[in-house]
Amino acid sequence: MEQYRVPPNTDVELSNYETYYDGDIEKKEGKDQLKELGKTLRDLQELLFAEHKQKVLVVLQGIDTAGKDSTIRHVFGDVNPQGTKVANFKVPTQRELDHDYLWRVHPHTPGKGEIVIFNRSHYEDVLVVRVHDLVPKSVWEKRYHHINEFERLLADEGTTILKFFLNVSKKEQAERFLARLDRPHKRWKFNPDDLEERKHWDAYTAAYEDMLSQTSTPWAPWYVIPSDRKWYRNLTVASVIVDTIKNLGMQFPSEVDGIDAYRDKLIEMIGDKDA
Ligand code: ADP
Repeated sequence: MEQYRVPPNTDVELSNYETYYDGDIEKKEGKDQLKELGKTLRDLQELLFAEHKQKVLVVLQGIDTAGKDSTIRHVFGDVNPQGTKVANFKVPTQRELDHDYLWRVHPHTPGKGEIVIFNRSHYEDVLVVRVHDLVPKSVWEKRYHHINEFERLLADEGTTILKFFLNVSKKEQAERFLARLDRPHKRWKFNPDDLEERKHWDAYTAAYEDMLSQTSTPWAPWYVIPSDRKWYRNLTVASVIVDTIKNLGMQFPSEVDGIDAYRDKLIEMIGDKDA
């Protein structure tokens, strides 16, 4: 999975990155592997919760239709619903805009024993904000540095950070919009504004490239995931997350003292119907 990780200080040009790639795996095999990874992740999350030491933050970014929601569903579908939280970052409220852009983000970061998934994130403040000139360049260009330092703070305080850019081609995006229109149960997802946004494709590409080039750090790396094939996208994201959490060296907490005495007591209770 290391092939998808952006090394620090890389000058990323997205035209050099595959969007339609399947790792030379058959789709059926890929889906079976994902099922296994889902179960492993379920067990790892339980251990993470029980141990109550590690914090894990997963950041998902990508253009409309790249599949942020669907990736969350497929990768975390087997995990105890109480075990992970998803934080969605939409257009900021007036109160949020009255503060610095990280103000609304920090309270959602994971505590000990938690996995939090950011569906969009503080990176919107160097993406949509930049593309639509919502603040001047002199303001957004300083944010790469703030973000690196913010993530360093989280990492120094024990958070493992994984960031995924779901990379789809322009043609695939058009096909996914069309599929939404063609399927009655998916039509609700279609928003004509999304086609307006598509007109800014090149500006978004430049903004994503700068984001990836400037904010992939040793403590919070970006992974660029080929996402034209949904099953391969899910498999790749799941593999990176499972590999990373597996290597955290977690252990179940030590046993309660006097366990044998408790066992004897319980056996006695069960044996005595009147107890
Ligand atoms: P989804 O995430 O499912 O696409 P929406 O359709 O509600 O949800 O889209 C959320 C919108 O909020 C996106 O257009 C995104 O660019 C916008 N947004 C998120 N963060 C910011 C921000 N900091 N400033 C401006 N717009 C933002």
